[in-house]
Amino acid sequence: MYEQLIPCDHCGGRPTVGRSQRIINDTPDPWFDQTRWGRFGGPPVLRDTMRRPPEAPQTEPLVCIYCAECGMQTPWQPCAEDDTAARNTVAEIWNRRVNRPEADKTDLQRLVERELGTTDIPAFIELLSRLDGDWNELGPIVAMIARRMVDATVVTFDSWPIDPVLNDAARYRKLVQLTKWVDIDGERYVQFPKVFTHPEDRDRAFEDVIAAAVDSLPDRDRW
Ligand SMILES: [Zn+2]
Repeated sequence: MYEQLIPCDHCGGRPTVGRSQRIINDTPDPWFDQTRWGRFGGPPVLRDTMRRPPEAPQTEPLVCIYCAECGMQTPWQPCAEDDTAARNTVAEIWNRRVNRPEADKTDLQRLVERELGTTDIPAFIELLSRLDGDWNELGPIVAMIARRMVDATVVTFDSWPIDPVLNDAARYRKLVQLTKWVDIDGERYVQFPKVFTHPEDRDRAFEDVIAAAVDSLPDRDRW
């Protein structure tokens, strides 16, 4: 079970499960037209999941993770025996493909020279995560940038602390994982689950009761 797929390393797009099929037996079948579904039909094609005629060479189902934006893709993995295990395998391959270039001092200095604010924090953290070099030298620069950001964001942090927002965002994602499609009168609705609230929690603040209730739901399964 994979909790999280890292966004595409190439374009930042959203990774998606892709499916296809390929021929199990690669000995050519002289009775069957090779051009379309035969051995020389080419590599597996995304979304090629249609059942083939019985006279066509037998195929096995495949799964991969691909980026819907730029098409970057993991190798295909057979999934006939254990679909979840196959998806976990490709998910692991996908998450391994993070290969970011190392940042150095000049990247940092470029950042110092610019005006920094709240919106730059993710970019700064991203830079920090791949920073490599002499920390005696880098440390003070990092501290200076952090200081600037704190100065720029002090109002934001005071009025709307970021931690509860992130926790609530995680709760929302958990709820989304547990939603169902409901078709009523030909229209499609999203139905959120009914969430049990524990009697002990009922005297607490409205938001806290809901937060505790959502937290008590089973962990989400990304598949
Ligand atoms: Zn991409």
